[in-house]
Amino acid sequence: MEGLSVAQARKSENAGRQAVLQGWVRTRRDSKGGFSFIELNDGSCMANLQIVADGKLANYETEIKQLSAGCSITVEGELKPSPAKGQATEIHASRVTLVGHADPQTYELQKKRHSFEYLRTIAHLRPRTNTFGAVMRVRNQICRSIHDFFQEQGFLYIQAPIITASDCEGAGEMFKVTTFDLARVPKREQEVDYAQDFFQRPAFLTVSGQLEAEIFACSLGKVYTFGPTFRAENSNTSRHLAEFWMVEPEMAFFELSDNMDLAEAFLKRIFGDVLTKCPEDMAFFAEHIEKTTLSRLEAICNSEFVRLSYSEAIALLESAGRTWEYPVRWGTDLQAEHERYLTEEKFQKPVILFDYPRTIKPFYMRVNEDGRTVRAMDVLVPGVGEIIGGSQREERLDILKQRMAEQRLDPESYWWYLDLRRDGTVPHSGFGLGLERAVQFVTGMTNIRDVIPFPRTPGSAEF
Ligand code: ATP
Ligand code: MN
Repeated sequence: MEGLSVAQARKSENAGRQAVLQGWVRTRRDSKGGFSFIELNDGSCMANLQIVADGKLANYETEIKQLSAGCSITVEGELKPSPAKGQATEIHASRVTLVGHADPQTYELQKKRHSFEYLRTIAHLRPRTNTFGAVMRVRNQICRSIHDFFQEQGFLYIQAPIITASDCEGAGEMFKVTTFDLARVPKREQEVDYAQDFFQRPAFLTVSGQLEAEIFACSLGKVYTFGPTFRAENSNTSRHLAEFWMVEPEMAFFELSDNMDLAEAFLKRIFGDVLTKCPEDMAFFAEHIEKTTLSRLEAICNSEFVRLSYSEAIALLESAGRTWEYPVRWGTDLQAEHERYLTEEKFQKPVILFDYPRTIKPFYMRVNEDGRTVRAMDVLVPGVGEIIGGSQREERLDILKQRMAEQRLDPESYWWYLDLRRDGTVPHSGFGLGLERAVQFVTGMTNIRDVIPFPRTPGSAEF
């Protein structure tokens, strides 16, 4: 007898086989004919396998008729073609063994549908819900596509450190890493004496693996990092987490247009894979979460992204004939309302904005000939807004030093970054995709807290 998953057991070609399955009961229904139907789910797919349990089974009265939602069981039996609609097979049990009981009086996922907010407070059980199971299977597929895409194109997977001494861009607030007793922090002339701390210097959780990826791109060509990143900003939005996963490719000899081409091909690959490899879960999202998700993803895979310079975008927004909450002016960062207008109304597809003013972007972005703009690019998508941020990096030592001075950064602490521009410098580019924003976009889930196993946000880290 062979162990099968529910996903395998549901395939018509497996009818006639003897099988063992293990999972959790969703429902039990007793028939007048003296047998019971049990719906079994094991997370391998959205659908359940129907178990037909005969009244003649030895533990029928004592155990099988007590089964309720959440009980874990092992079932052995023969897979047969099912007369019921919506399922090719069912299993006729020769044995059903209770593994772990769940009390119907207290089991939280008994019948009632809970809100996503409530499910966050029972994060230990929410993976057993249809929605969260589907989210996790889609998230898994996206991770797989990320690796497949880069591996097939000859990129090396590099692991950037999670603890770092460098602040990537002064971009976000960083979490500190210390072994100091916070009630008795060692001081020297009023200042914290980091020389006595574990790393003998201030250390942080990384906000990005980019600077480290640049080191490896400038030796090995095409690389990517993929891991957790941390932002300590107090932003309580539906698109921000304090801990999120970011994939960051970095490529030597790539200019900004190459970078845009790569980002577009990369997103199309992820969206296309999700459609072909997770059809059942995606149909669920289309039915229950966001009606247009399938057609939207298909349209994106089959059309070109809009490419628009920041200056062109400003002109479009100025002539849009509406009053913005945040006034539009060349030199200021675009707000969500502006991004939404461009991607959701004006173009109704992904938009790549590039060549931003140098004053609003980090020091490492390459300065354009005009001197006022840098080779930055953001990919905006409907519903989510910014999903990718990237740039061509400044490879010219003198200009990089100037930019650091401009932004009051200490060149001493970036000595190795500057060194890369001294010894065999090359044009190079890269970008960062927030994994959770990608999952949000694909599934249509409105809150980013519902697309990561255990969301970390201000005031919330229980699980
Ligand atoms: P935003 O403007 O949306 O706050 P950002 O410009 O600070 O984002 P980057 O530093 O460019 O973000 O990071 C690259 C990508 O990482 C973003 O395009 C986004 O997909 C993702 N990302 C950034 N911050 C967060 C966050 N707090 N939670 C989840 N994903 C994030
Ligand atoms: Mn960004």
